[in-house]
Amino acid sequence: MKILLIMPDAGMHKFRFGSFVRSAREAPLTLTTLAALTRDDPSIEYRLIDESVDRVPLDFPADLVGISVMTGTARRAYALAEHFRGRKIPVVLGGVHATILPEEARPFADSLVIGMADGLWPQLLRDFREGKLRAEYREEKLASRYTTIPIPAPRYDLQRKSGYMMPYTIQATRGCMHSCDFCAVPVIWGNRYIRRPVGEVIRDIRSIPSKRFALNDVSPVDDVEYAKELFRAMIPLKKKWGGLSTTKVIEDPELFDLMVKSGCQYLLIGFESANSETLGSIAKRFNKPDHYAEVMRQMHQAGIIVQGCFVFGFDHDTRDIFRQTVERVQELKIDIPRYSIYTPYPGTRLFKRLEEEKRILSYNWADYNTMNVVYRPKNMSPVELYEGFRWAYRETFKVGRILPRALAAGTRFPITFFGNLTYKLFVHRLYLNRGFEMPVAGELSVQSLATSR
Ligand code: SF4
Repeated sequence: MKILLIMPDAGMHKFRFGSFVRSAREAPLTLTTLAALTRDDPSIEYRLIDESVDRVPLDFPADLVGISVMTGTARRAYALAEHFRGRKIPVVLGGVHATILPEEARPFADSLVIGMADGLWPQLLRDFREGKLRAEYREEKLASRYTTIPIPAPRYDLQRKSGYMMPYTIQATRGCMHSCDFCAVPVIWGNRYIRRPVGEVIRDIRSIPSKRFALNDVSPVDDVEYAKELFRAMIPLKKKWGGLSTTKVIEDPELFDLMVKSGCQYLLIGFESANSETLGSIAKRFNKPDHYAEVMRQMHQAGIIVQGCFVFGFDHDTRDIFRQTVERVQELKIDIPRYSIYTPYPGTRLFKRLEEEKRILSYNWADYNTMNVVYRPKNMSPVELYEGFRWAYRETFKVGRILPRALAAGTRFPITFFGNLTYKLFVHRLYLNRGFEMPVAGELSVQSLATSR
């Protein structure tokens, strides 16, 4: 049985120079983990396509196609589903967006996977083989908030190794114990925090044929005792890793020390805003702007490069926010800053609130990529928000601002400097785009496949 698994392209975080395509991210785990669920069945042959680095083989002779749908890629996913169903190949849709909006995805699928696929995929394939594919496979909610479950090692052998900043990705936990109003993670996971047995994570890290890997947990230090146990077990492996964290990691000196000793060299941290009132309004009060300087001091002292994320367009933001943020980023010497536009992903509390306030401007999910304005901001116009976002990027990545930040990284200067130059290319692309155009709110329509990737 031939199965084609596709992760459609969101068009973000990648660079293309002619035929050379490079994703600015780590390799995703979705498809390799799904394929690993039936590792013991040699009759199943998988072809995995991450469209951010591969072309979708539209004529592939698949028996079944599975597509992972995220909000920003939903239109592309539906177009691909229509194509394969047009070829009489059954299509299964799953992923975050299909889980949050199953009724929207249903007309494009022969079967839907709603929730975590781990416990559903093998059964779905058995049913398909027997000609009994169900219209829907829904995950039973786990009762406990903290759950430890085994998850198989990803099928790295089926994944491209070139084209990624980091080709090997590991996951130790799923979910997050916080509930920021704009984030889809708590919508998907509820209040669950799933941990893999530490021994299994270590086994997978050890099996990676590389000294470096990405840990793509969204909030790996929420369960402090679990994180300490994991980091302690990682120390003897002598590997280097990068991942995500919250600012809370420095609140427990032992935890931070273990994280550093485990080989952490790079962290993406969501600072979001330098305004405490804003952080309270989005339910991210655990971020304390007064502590940001100490967070950065400790990170630099430990040799960790920080990609610091800030969001524009909160209800407390006025037109001054862009200059204030750019100056703050410079003061804090954030190694690689990253800006986003506040985006109300469907299912989130933010989406519900803005809908009630009749402030959503676009229901075109392709615009939901944190680089477009899809709602009416409170204290500025949509155009001002978009232009302020672009200005902040351009200003932050001027060489005169890059240098002092990169020099603060000490021996990590070359990596930080290169990372900043990569973002400078991104700014160039941002300005090649047309300026802001008011989105047209309307019904979802499927994009043509004619736009070749
Ligand atoms: S933004 Fe980060 S901390 Fe907040 S809910 Fe999402 S994953 Fe958790």
